[in-house]
Amino acid sequence: MHSPVVVLGGGPGGYAAAFLAADEGLDVTIVEAEPRLGGTCLLRGCIPSKALLHVAKVIHEVDDLKANWGVEYPGKPSIDIDKVRARKDQVISNLTGGLGNLAKRRNVTVIQARGTFVNSTTLQLEGDHESIPVGGQLTFDHCILATGSVPAMPPAFNIGSDRVMDSTGALALADIPESMLVVGGGYIGLEMGSVYAHLGSKVTVVELAEGLLPGADRDLVKPLAKRIDKLCEGRVLTNTKVGSLTEVGDKIEVTFEGPAHFGHEQFDRVLVSIGRRPVTRGLGLENTSVVVNERGFVECDDRQRTADPHILAIGDVAGDPMLAHKATHEGRVAAEVLAGKAASFDKKAIPAVVFTDPEIAWAGITETEAKRDGVKVTVEVYPWAASGRAQALGITEGLTKWLVDPDSGRIIGCGIVGSGAGELIAEAVLAIEMGCEVHDVTESVHPHPTLSETLMNAGEVHFGTATEIF
Ligand code: FAD
Repeated sequence: MHSPVVVLGGGPGGYAAAFLAADEGLDVTIVEAEPRLGGTCLLRGCIPSKALLHVAKVIHEVDDLKANWGVEYPGKPSIDIDKVRARKDQVISNLTGGLGNLAKRRNVTVIQARGTFVNSTTLQLEGDHESIPVGGQLTFDHCILATGSVPAMPPAFNIGSDRVMDSTGALALADIPESMLVVGGGYIGLEMGSVYAHLGSKVTVVELAEGLLPGADRDLVKPLAKRIDKLCEGRVLTNTKVGSLTEVGDKIEVTFEGPAHFGHEQFDRVLVSIGRRPVTRGLGLENTSVVVNERGFVECDDRQRTADPHILAIGDVAGDPMLAHKATHEGRVAAEVLAGKAASFDKKAIPAVVFTDPEIAWAGITETEAKRDGVKVTVEVYPWAASGRAQALGITEGLTKWLVDPDSGRIIGCGIVGSGAGELIAEAVLAIEMGCEVHDVTESVHPHPTLSETLMNAGEVHFGTATEIF
């Protein structure tokens, strides 16, 4: 069987690339190992985690009503874990079903198989699905490699116990353990840790670095770290290494090594969330001219072209940041490149969002990067304590900041911490993409009273014209 364009992997990178290539008039086949399209994001990543975080957020808001607004509800929330799980699974089914229809409507062929490269223009397909062609080989003119990533699990933690989970196991929501250790204070660990803590688990977070979310600006992390510390009742162990995991009866015994925390403790479950690794091993890439770097990512240029003229790469497999919207955008670029358009990707404003409560979001250059790389920036910060809307909502710990190029006055970065930061950052992405100067933001009328005004207000700080008092 021959297909002019084959997309290997049906995640948000792969299915977007396939649909857009079909829209460009190309004849496309997706090869996906799993029975459903959607990849990590839909099946065991962005979407199920956000469905569960919604539950966590509402529980927090009800607690806040009780604590700060004098609104009483009888007793503690009672959680039917089977119903929570079923609702989360329904959300996934709704979305994956829609993808199947979108593929059909565009005449995109979907083959359910695991593909490996025999050479630069042939995939060997394995599996037992009826969609696999006789002989199991699929030839192509161009392949878009979109095999994504999987959770990293160091051999020392891989002890063959289902009490030790990765993010996929945590999202399966088998139960609400009494105690849970989250190894890794990155965004996935904090999101899932927040979910379990709100559902009633006693959560401990351990992080090797000095603070949570290493790499993010410290002023953005501060309000979140405070909230997580409260949620975990002080059990956030930074600067601490997990030495070993051992199954002891129905518990996991964990050894800690750190200046402040040494010794061992037992937990009902352990979530290992120390990062993800790109899926490049076992794909037969050695039979092609594709170059894989020392971190396991496929090397490609700003048009998603690899060193092999027949193969493009997109999404998690093509490098950091490993985020769904970056994968989708690269899918668009790859599809347009194959359609002969002059598409390329300048990665200057890929937003990153941590969907905890409060949320953290940034786009463009961060203060941490500016300091590290010696980039001159003016930083304009607007504390949410001065925002009428934040006061009304009782979420005054947030802040919004612009990073401005002092020579041109152009906005080159933005950071936000606070409720809804993930929605607010979209304005900053547009401002950075369009090369806006600060006055473009301050002279755009923002609706009152909204948190979006804090973007305008942070710009006003730049000119000394902020009207709110703080
Ligand atoms: P993937 O989504 O990983 O898809 C790759 C697909 O390729 C898979 O379906 C796989 O089965 C298939 N495949 C692999 N090898 C083969 C093969 N040999 N043959 C056939 N098929 C193959 N990102 C965000 O932007 N926002 C979020 O809020 C967010 N939350 C997340 C929460 C969690 C818990 C996790 C784990 C991830 C989260 N991410 C989030 C990251 C996001 O899921 C990934 O960046 C995104 O899914 C990458 O898309 P992709 O298309 O590159 O790969």
